[in-house]
Amino acid sequence: MHGDEALWYDPEPDDSRRGQVLRAAAACPVQALRVEGVNVRQAMPATKPMRAGDDSFRRAGRIVIVGASLAGLRAAAKLRQEGFTGSLTLIGDEPYAPYDRPPLSKQVLDGWVPAQRTALPRPGDLDAQWRLGEPATGLDLARKQVRFADDEVGFDRLLIATGVRARPWPDPSEAALDGVFVLSARGDAVGLRRRLAARPRRVLIIGAGFIGSEVASVCRELGLAVTVAERGPAPLAGALGRVVGVIAGDMQRDHGVDLRCGVTVTALEGDTGRRLRRAHLSDGAIVDVEVAIAALGTLRNVEWLQDSGLAAGPWGVACDAGARAVTVDGMVADDVFVAGDVARSPHPLYDFQFLALEHWGNAVAQAEIAAHNMISSQTERWPHLAVPEFWSTQFSTEIKSVGVPTFADEVVIEQGSTADRRFIAVYGRRGRITAAVAFNQAKWLEFYERLIERAAPFPLDFRAVDQPDGREPVPAEIPDQPVLMQEATVVVTGHDPSGRHAQFVDRER
Ligand SMILES: Cc1cc2nc3c(=O)[nH]c(=O)nc-3n(C[C@H](O)[C@H](O)[C@H](O)COP(=O)(O)OP(=O)(O)OC[C@H]3O[C@@H](n4cnc5c(N)ncnc54)[C@H](O)[C@@H]3O)c2cc1C
Repeated sequence: MHGDEALWYDPEPDDSRRGQVLRAAAACPVQALRVEGVNVRQAMPATKPMRAGDDSFRRAGRIVIVGASLAGLRAAAKLRQEGFTGSLTLIGDEPYAPYDRPPLSKQVLDGWVPAQRTALPRPGDLDAQWRLGEPATGLDLARKQVRFADDEVGFDRLLIATGVRARPWPDPSEAALDGVFVLSARGDAVGLRRRLAARPRRVLIIGAGFIGSEVASVCRELGLAVTVAERGPAPLAGALGRVVGVIAGDMQRDHGVDLRCGVTVTALEGDTGRRLRRAHLSDGAIVDVEVAIAALGTLRNVEWLQDSGLAAGPWGVACDAGARAVTVDGMVADDVFVAGDVARSPHPLYDFQFLALEHWGNAVAQAEIAAHNMISSQTERWPHLAVPEFWSTQFSTEIKSVGVPTFADEVVIEQGSTADRRFIAVYGRRGRITAAVAFNQAKWLEFYERLIERAAPFPLDFRAVDQPDGREPVPAEIPDQPVLMQEATVVVTGHDPSGRHAQFVDRER
């Protein structure tokens, strides 16, 4: 175990791990049960009686889910659980059954869990048609058809859950060098694991966000020399601000990472055999490396929605708090829903700003809300109001957050000690609490989540357990969010209210 509340990712722990599992289970607020070989319709009867308005759709409607991963699978299970007995089709461009991504940058990479053991638990009888390895290529909203290269499939209601992919290294010929990786899908993890197991002399990680930092951590666990190049002032600063980022940076250096902040990688250079050999940095340094991981953030999988009429672009797919997709006109498209990493929806706690959250817990919660709303009448629908949560495991530290740390102007270390790397940082904006981040102190987060929900005053006006002396809020120093590339411009045309429409135009036009 890393940290006293951590549980290794291991679907089948043997007896020697019994003590660890029991300790982790005792610390876990969620009691997880794995149920195998169960017919979900018998085991999980409809939680609500059918209502007249929805009855025929619940019985015989056609639902198509594009994106057969975490959000897609959880939505499908929820639909069946709530009594949807119509036809259900899951479309995925990857050839595998849905699998879990968090272990790819942790337990798969360090060799603890083979990649094929990351399959997500699947209810025994989901009774769905699976079209795996088949990318959806288009959406015809008027005819309610999802297009493939050669055919199409019709729907009454559609869920878009196509997630994100890793942003590639921008120079295609350098990206193609042997030894250059991204990490987003199972195949990436398999290839990178194989290369790390061959013990390269030095690994370069470009970008110290969560995934880059987790990979650096695994490399150090494997005893590999690692250089991390980060454009910002500190690791994780983009997500947690500079104050907490500096603590994460100290942690990296203590674990032997050659961390270089405020620099970019300007070029990757290969030998005559097109094998990666060195990297050039913006400060003039040259680093000899055999493996490089571009951890530069993500791109949203929305290309297939081009010209669909939905508000889909580099920001993701806009939807309302009930997960209903929004059209380019800003209207709600009644029969199209969105969930998971690809979605961008307004959150009342955060000034109704449209948030895109690439978090496991958000994908699950939003998918279940979307599924419920797909088969409910307007008055029975639920809003997605969960407080965002995130976790990461790196350098023997369990980092967890609730709320949105980037939505803050100040931060204070409210509990514990940064020197011991056991603390809670609380974030506030204009006098109210908006987020909390725990390093090896996750047990307190639920308490802070309640405060965030109540928009409690910031800084807190009571004495917390293990409060450091002289605590004082300081600027959170959240760096500017990166500007979206290839951002679309929207124009409005027409004069008469019945003829006014918005449409995307290319910037160049
Ligand atoms: C390496 C890694 C580590 C992570 N670690 C953590 C963590 O520690 N904590 C945490 O909270 N979150 C973590 N995450 C994020 C978490 O895994 C995601 O939030 C979650 O997977 C989102 O689920 P999703 O179903 O929305 O999207 P995805 O899991 O991205 O699934 C989308 C699916 O849709 C498919 N698809 C895309 N386009 C099409 C198309 N046109 N047709 C058909 N299918 C298509 C994709 O190939 C993919 O299979 C991590 C992610 C990665 C990559």
